[in-house]
Amino acid sequence: MSGQPLGLSLKVSWYLMKMRLTRREKFPLTMILEPLEKCNLACIGCGRIHEYEPVIDKLMTVEEAMRAVDDCDAPVVSIAGGEPTMHPQIGEIVAGIIERGKYVYLCTNALLFKKAFKVIPPSPKFSFVVHLDGLRETHDIAVDRKGVYDVAIKMIKEAKERGYRVCTNTTLYSGNQPVEYHELFAMLNDLGVEGMMVSPGFEYKEVADQPIFMQRQEAQNFFRRIFEGTKKGTRFYNNPLYRDFLQGKRDYECSQWSTPTYTVMGWRKPCYLLSTEGHAETFIELMDTTPWDKYGYGKDSRCDTCMMHCGYEGSAIMEAMSKPSVGWEMFKRTVLTKD
Ligand code: SF4
Ligand code: SF4
Repeated sequence: MSGQPLGLSLKVSWYLMKMRLTRREKFPLTMILEPLEKCNLACIGCGRIHEYEPVIDKLMTVEEAMRAVDDCDAPVVSIAGGEPTMHPQIGEIVAGIIERGKYVYLCTNALLFKKAFKVIPPSPKFSFVVHLDGLRETHDIAVDRKGVYDVAIKMIKEAKERGYRVCTNTTLYSGNQPVEYHELFAMLNDLGVEGMMVSPGFEYKEVADQPIFMQRQEAQNFFRRIFEGTKKGTRFYNNPLYRDFLQGKRDYECSQWSTPTYTVMGWRKPCYLLSTEGHAETFIELMDTTPWDKYGYGKDSRCDTCMMHCGYEGSAIMEAMSKPSVGWEMFKRTVLTKD
């Protein structure tokens, strides 16, 4: 079942129609904004805090963030990092993006939730995305600190009581059992979480020595067992075609250009996960000079284990846009049957 608000679905549909009419082939759907790379955790699967170690104290200014949001002009902005709530001006950054009519998803590990509640008011265009990789033991191992799971659940409950929209983001690693995720998703559904995002962990070179990353076929089998055992009516944020892809029922080429990432060092080339080509100074430079076709499954060995939404969820939307039968299936499963 889709956990996206209707207003967002309409905004994205209108945006896609405009892109089609103007015959743009490559365009952003969701922009990822990283206003700092510093974090108050050191999760075992996180490449960010290692890769950006030399600039770990750097803060993006509000003006820099707004310029990037305006240049990119995607209808959705996902704020990540690092831990975004550690940024001293996170309230102004969120407010500035909402003022521009865009939907904001703020990814957080929950540790600073009381500060976040003070500086960010509830809005239909704003959602917290709470990081939750499993039930208590699994999550606390993934984030390498005891007690974080309990804080995350507390944040979800309090945020719902205060009128915030809340989503969750779960990264799946090797060695866990599907039944744990059946329990986790059922519990989050009962807590009123609007949309649950799922994807397998990406094997960043900085943490590749850890035996926690699934190969593609292993991940597909795992996702099939997870989705088959999940209760009907579970509100997943990811669209149903992308969920088919995760289970190996559909095949897509990567469309990393649909999810550009702006960091304290500029626009990452080519994607949220790899920065092979360094960073571009402007959005136009990113779009015009990145050799997009060099990357993706079967083209670059580092992409072989990647099934992340930043590369493939946009591909599912593009297919729905270009093939009427697939577009109808997406509409039916998202709106009518609430698959
Ligand atoms: S909370 Fe996020 S940014 Fe921080 S260490 Fe964990 S994965 Fe990395
Ligand atoms: S498959 Fe796409 S999104 Fe994934 S790492 Fe490669 S270029 Fe990036």
